[in-house]
Amino acid sequence: MQVKVVKFGGSSLADAEHFRQVASIVKADPTRKYVVPSAPGKRSKEDTKVTDMLYGCYELIKAREPREVIDAAYDKICERYNGIIKELGLNFDISGELEYVKNAMLHSSGRDYAASRGEYLNGLILAKYLGFAFIDAESVIYFRDNGTFDEEKTNAAVAEELAKNEYAVIPGFYGVMPNGTIKTFSRGGSDITGSIVARAAKATIYENWTDVSGFMMADPRLVNNPCIIQEITYRELRELSYMGATVLHEDAVFPVRGAGIPINIRNTNRPDDEGTWIVSRSNGYDTEKIITGIAGKKGFSVITIEKDMMNSEVGFGRKLLEIFEDNDLPFEHLPSGIDTMSVVVSTALIEEKRDKLLQTISRDLRPDSVFIEDGLALIAVVGRGMVKAKGTAARVCDSLANAGINIRMIDQGSSELNIVVGVDEGEYEDSIRAIYGEFVH
Ligand code: ASP
Repeated sequence: MQVKVVKFGGSSLADAEHFRQVASIVKADPTRKYVVPSAPGKRSKEDTKVTDMLYGCYELIKAREPREVIDAAYDKICERYNGIIKELGLNFDISGELEYVKNAMLHSSGRDYAASRGEYLNGLILAKYLGFAFIDAESVIYFRDNGTFDEEKTNAAVAEELAKNEYAVIPGFYGVMPNGTIKTFSRGGSDITGSIVARAAKATIYENWTDVSGFMMADPRLVNNPCIIQEITYRELRELSYMGATVLHEDAVFPVRGAGIPINIRNTNRPDDEGTWIVSRSNGYDTEKIITGIAGKKGFSVITIEKDMMNSEVGFGRKLLEIFEDNDLPFEHLPSGIDTMSVVVSTALIEEKRDKLLQTISRDLRPDSVFIEDGLALIAVVGRGMVKAKGTAARVCDSLANAGINIRMIDQGSSELNIVVGVDEGEYEDSIRAIYGEFVH
């Protein structure tokens, strides 16, 4: 028997019209049994997400602002929910809940409690509208004393509760601490709840409904109308997300990945679009495009160390990296020549440690020279097809050369899943466009 878990993001539940759309999606397929909602998102560019309104209200209370100021801010939140209920023509009085939440917030129930109510209240309304049971995440999603998520305890509790309800709404984003207080995941964490529920339900598919028709091959702010990726493996997704491409919360992958459940990213506003499939393993790849996607980030620095006969000095690399470890600095890449080694690091992370780093390297390694260059952008070209297709690296390099862009660094992972190039930050945007244009026609 098929079971689908469907998660709807904030933009998919921003107003009554979107609630109707969500209901028609859920009802169109009886195997869509478990629904995980976010809090109402923005209705327009200038609008504020309910989660942010709740955080704002919490700050006003904490700052002991006058009661009228707090009341006015909270009334705006009430208006959002009451507006949705009224427009849906729903026979549901949420005023008692709204009053209760406000009082709890006024009596120091905490920041996470405040934020979590966005999902909680939206979940109550959606359950009522769909005619589904409501399972409070507080009763099934557990954190440990140290604040980490308790996966196994949660899985057992969610599975037990789902078994009692054929159809249910489980609000996203939060769970409970051992002492009974509410704790949220990090921002965007309803994706994680969806994944947890999908695992516990032994779902066939985890559908994640948002406002785009899937994961795009490149940043749409840089490339005009980029293609949607039809299928991407978890490993490819990890490479692209690490470099800044986002559609899904990074931690949302783990529960379903372990259980071998595919994620299907879908567009609530265009429900007929296939969306993107995120899968553990894929037998094929797009033989025309070869690559799966491109993503990148600015803000990197290269620390270059030169020393004659470095290659024969056993332990040189270890000593160098130890200096980074001692300074609590992760490194991104390590391009090296015979007598040079370069360490690519985040500029923000080294900011306050620059002088100390240079001094320690000079003192411990006695190099001929050591220097830091800033302003590097890294671009990852990712694709499981690269291992089979010859000449991909050449095409990446040619496309940049043809655009008059100098490659400052290049690194190909041995699994041939990605090629990373470093370019000047000023040429970042053009580089992405050049590489995209080379592979997608
Ligand atoms: N409402 C929360 C946020 O805005 C969680 C979510 O939407 O996934 O971060």
